Amino acid sequence: MVLRRTLCVFAVALGAAMLCGLAAAAGAPPNVLLVTLDTVRPDHLGCYGDRHALTPTLDELARTGTRFTQAYTTVPLTLPAHATLLTGTYPFFHGVRDQPGYRLPDGIPTLAERFAAAGYATGAVLASPVLDARYGLNRGFSYYDDRIASVMQEEAVQGATVVKRPASEVARRGLDWVEHGRGGKPFFLWLHFYDAHLPYAPPAALRARFPGDPYDASIALIDQTLGRLLAVGKAQGWLAHTTVVVLSDHGEGLGEHGESTHGFFIYNATMRIPLLIRPAGATSPHIVTTPVSIVDVAPTLLRLCNLSVPAGMQGRKREAAVLGQDGGSATPIYLESYYPLLHLGWNPLRGLVMGEQKYIEAPRREFYDLATDPAERHNVEATHQAPMAAFQEVLDTLVRRHSAVSQSARTAVDPATAETFASLGYLGAPGGLAPVFTLDRRDPKDGIGEEEQLLSMAHAYQAHNFVQAEARAQAILAHDSRQPLALDYLGTVRFERHDLKAAQATLTQLVRVAPFFATGAAQLAHTDEQLGDRTAAERWYRQAVALDPGDARSLRQLGLLLLDSGRAAEAETTLRRALELQPDDVYGLNALSQILAERGDTAGAIGLLQHVVATAPRLLPPRLNLGYLYLRAGQAAVAEQLMRDTLRQDPRAAGALAILGTAQLQQGHRTEAETTLRHALQVEPGNAVAAEALRRLKK
Ligand SMILES: [Zn+2]
Repeated sequence: MVLRRTLCVFAVALGAAMLCGLAAAAGAPPNVLLVTLDTVRPDHLGCYGDRHALTPTLDELARTGTRFTQAYTTVPLTLPAHATLLTGTYPFFHGVRDQPGYRLPDGIPTLAERFAAAGYATGAVLASPVLDARYGLNRGFSYYDDRIASVMQEEAVQGATVVKRPASEVARRGLDWVEHGRGGKPFFLWLHFYDAHLPYAPPAALRARFPGDPYDASIALIDQTLGRLLAVGKAQGWLAHTTVVVLSDHGEGLGEHGESTHGFFIYNATMRIPLLIRPAGATSPHIVTTPVSIVDVAPTLLRLCNLSVPAGMQGRKREAAVLGQDGGSATPIYLESYYPLLHLGWNPLRGLVMGEQKYIEAPRREFYDLATDPAERHNVEATHQAPMAAFQEVLDTLVRRHSAVSQSARTAVDPATAETFASLGYLGAPGGLAPVFTLDRRDPKDGIGEEEQLLSMAHAYQAHNFVQAEARAQAILAHDSRQPLALDYLGTVRFERHDLKAAQATLTQLVRVAPFFATGAAQLAHTDEQLGDRTAAERWYRQAVALDPGDARSLRQLGLLLLDSGRAAEAETTLRRALELQPDDVYGLNALSQILAERGDTAGAIGLLQHVVATAPRLLPPRLNLGYLYLRAGQAAVAEQLMRDTLRQDPRAAGALAILGTAQLQQGHRTEAETTLRHALQVEPGNAVAAEALRRLKK
């Protein structure tokens, strides 16, 4: 560092100002581009030895930066893994053990907050609703683009249950922010690429290149997108001053140990991650073989940017290893999955990697020699009792030392629910307590078959194959009639097929066996609402929101229900809470505008609806509401313009014709008005607005 600065001053003294360009930039804080490749296994990348991979961009990054050969995530699930990445703390400290239903607690310092405090512009573009701002990872980002499941997609697109944004869209928005959104400051930009997560949708060319292997085709797609992004960075001149970090949040089982996806086990198929770091200006490769954890990334990044590391960060600073100065000391690598406990009531898993050995704490313990058995096929616990005891000791100490005193990210539930919950032994985290690790439940190894059945049911549902999803749910329930997920899917499928009475019965059974199941309560509320039972619907919406206060959709539905019941004040409070969580929710905004309009606040209502129309231009009702309010405000010309625009989208929209005719009438264009209004009544004979205007016309 000192040497470099000396050289720079020297060059300036010689008048070779151009030589100093890079060094001057090196004095300024580097930008940071953090890219998380969801679900990408390192052994499916060229730079990690996969000769069939098509990953030239990542390979180039590895050739010019630092590649960690043994990097691990802490939890094989998107939200908890990213919570660790962005706070530099262990899951038992930050408390985000699972998804959804967990939120990063306030008060834990985040990487983005630290960068923001250091004068950086902080931006993030997400590809999956799993990382929605309501889960708290947005703290410290001045720009957090999580508008993936805009309500339009959520509800207007029939049955769209899986929503994600392609990498190209994420990159485009990220670049846009770098160009226009950062106000000349150095930037910290986090991009999340979700294309390697099910369901895959690679383009035909890549599908053809990887026949029968959409996972690798999707990884190739991500690599291409990243390549284009970096090329733009180079062309725009910022890439040379940017530290680039690329890693995944977890891997993918791909059938290893019977696990097709991720989240359930903590074997290396899902726990090992790629980790590439190229500091700004670096051009030479370094390979670090010391095992490292995703918890190390935040403190390491801060050090690479010459920033101090907040005291609470628990990961190891590994900037020396990144810069090739030393390999860094080996620290124990912590692994966990509470998914078996929190979703199925089975035993959670914890594990520890030290050097080339790995220990898994479970009712039947496991010990692997990764040097000779990297696929963890031969459990050698019987012959390794002594080292295993030592691993257990280290594991216990690590958890004890880093656990938070009273940290809880779990949504609180009322005591009665918590009690029922505990008595069922289904979930380990009632009443906002951190889940407790015990060894008295079913070993997940014995349940992977059922877990896979549940997954295949979920996949059938996501593919809109409701017949198959129902059959699979029924098959699971034949063995275990209280299986909450199977009940949830069965109820939801019945709802989707408009068999509302059957859906109600199934979902009632669900909330009985799993009263803490927030999505079950929400779905039952929705069903009751469709059946016209407002009292029951209100009760279950309230329950859903109590279980998951971040459930913006249930809050909004509750608000709509209250509005329909004539309880405008309560409706307004509820809708405003929902809109805090999801500011662009067009249904909530539309309803709130109705409340304002009824109160006489026409201007306020118009403002909200203008936002709705801009956000969801294809949605008809808010356009009509806005047109109607323009009429009321005496802005007939504006109303006419909006309705003409609307009719271009949908020429047979009777409501738009009615408002257009009324607007024409208000402007004194009687002949045109009469034609338009008659047309409206032709399309929709009962249209009251048109009939009323026509009556006035004839007076
Ligand atoms: Zn993920």
